[in-house]
Amino acid sequence: MTSTYDVVVVGAGIVGLAHAYHAHRRGLAVAVVDHADRVAGASVQNFGHACITAQSGTALEYARVGRSHWLDLAGKAGFWAAEAGTHCVARHEDEYTVLEQFAELRGKEQVQLLDRAEISSRLPIAHADVVGGMYMPTDVQVDPRAAAPAIARWLADSGVDFHWRTAATSFTPGVVHTSRGELHAGTTFVTVNHDIDRLFPESAERGGLVRCRLHMLRATLPLRAPLPTPLFTGWSLLRYSGFENLPAVADVAARLQAEHPEYVELDLHQMYTPQSDGSILLGDTHVREITASPFQSERGFEVLVTEAKALFGVDRVDVTERWQGTYCSAPGSEFLLEEPVDRVYVATVTTGIGMTTSMGLALSNVDSALTPVARRETRPRLTAHN
Ligand SMILES: Cc1cc2nc3c(=O)[nH]c(=O)nc-3n(C[C@H](O)[C@H](O)[C@H](O)COP(=O)(O)OP(=O)(O)OC[C@H]3O[C@@H](n4cnc5c(N)ncnc54)[C@H](O)[C@@H]3O)c2cc1C
Repeated sequence: MTSTYDVVVVGAGIVGLAHAYHAHRRGLAVAVVDHADRVAGASVQNFGHACITAQSGTALEYARVGRSHWLDLAGKAGFWAAEAGTHCVARHEDEYTVLEQFAELRGKEQVQLLDRAEISSRLPIAHADVVGGMYMPTDVQVDPRAAAPAIARWLADSGVDFHWRTAATSFTPGVVHTSRGELHAGTTFVTVNHDIDRLFPESAERGGLVRCRLHMLRATLPLRAPLPTPLFTGWSLLRYSGFENLPAVADVAARLQAEHPEYVELDLHQMYTPQSDGSILLGDTHVREITASPFQSERGFEVLVTEAKALFGVDRVDVTERWQGTYCSAPGSEFLLEEPVDRVYVATVTTGIGMTTSMGLALSNVDSALTPVARRETRPRLTAHN
C-alpha cells in the first residue's frame, strides 16, 4: 500500500474524524487509518454529551467553536443531535450555592437558575431532597453510538479514504508506516486517544497519561415522564473545570467526602443522558491505570443503580447493557498537543471531554498546521497545555 495524501489522520474516533472533516472542508486529499474495522473506541462508549457550558479556558473555546460544527455535521451526515441543554439538580443548599455562583459568573444566556418548584416540574425526579437547579441551554446532545460512525460513513462517501484494520506503527517526516505499508502525507494528525503511549511513549510518560476506565449502564426506568435533557447532579460540580474555582465547591466536596467516602473512592460522577429509544445512559465511576484492567467490580454498577433509584424515586432500574468505557486521563491537563516528528501532530484529549471539544480542537489544529509555511514558522509549535 503506497498512496499520497495531503493529510493522513491516524485514529477514527471523534478527534480523528473531526480533523479529517476540517481538512476535507479545505478541499484537501485526506485519508484516515484505524486498526479497528469500525469506530469502536471511547467515541462510542460515552454519554454523547457536548457539555459546553461547564468547561473553562481553552476547552470552553474549543467547545463553543465546535458547537455549530456538530449541528452542521448532524445535518450533513444524518445523525440525531439535539440542542437540548443540560439540567443540574441541587439536593443540598451547598450545591445550590455553587449554582448561584455559576449563574452569577456566566449570566442568563448560559445559565438559568431554577427554584425547587421549577426544576421539579421539569424533571421526573423525587421531590423530597430537591433544593433547586439550573439549566444550561447551549449544551448539545448526540447519540454516541450513531454520531461518530455516521461521520465516518459521510466522510467516506465524500471522498475521504478510510484504511480500516490498518495499524500505524511509526512515523518519519512525510511518511506514515503502517501494518499494510507506507502512506505519504504532507501533514499527519495522530489521534489515537490513550494508545498514544504505544506510538510516542516518552510524550505519554512526560504528560502522565494513563487509561481511565468507567462503569457505564444503559437502562430503562419507570419514570413518571421522560427525562427531557442530560442531567447533572451535585457530583458533577466536582468534575468540570467551569465550576472548579467557585468558592462554594469546597463545601460540596467536603460534605460529599464526609457523607459518601466510598463513592469518593469510586470517583463517582452521577449523571444521566436520555436516549431516543426511551432508555437512559447512566454513569459513571473512574479508575486510572496505565494498562486498563479488564475486571470491573460489581459494586460500581450497584452504586449507579442505587443512586438512580433514589434520585428518580423509582423501585426498578432495568439494566439492558453494561460496559467499561475507557478514555485518556492526565493530571492537571485537558489536551496533549505535540509535534514529535516534523509535520506529525499528536492531538489527545486527556480527560473525558473529547465529544465536547473535538470539533473546535481539530479546527484549531488544522488551521495551525496547514497555514502556509512562511506564516507558520512565525507561529508557536503546538504544545501541551491545560
Ligand atoms: C464512558 C465515557 C463517557 C464519556 N462521556 C463523555 C461525554 O459525555 N462528553 C464528552 O465530551 N466526552 C465524553 N467522554 C470522552 C470522549 O468519549 C473521549 O474524549 C473521545 O471519544 C476521545 O476520542 P478519540 O478520537 O481521541 O478516541 P477514540 O474514540 O478512542 O479513538 C481512537 C482510535 O484510534 C485507533 N488507534 C489506536 N491506535 C492506533 C494505531 N496505532 N493505528 C491505527 N489506529 C489506532 C483506535 O482503534 C480508535 O478507533 C467519555 C468517555 C467515556 C469512556
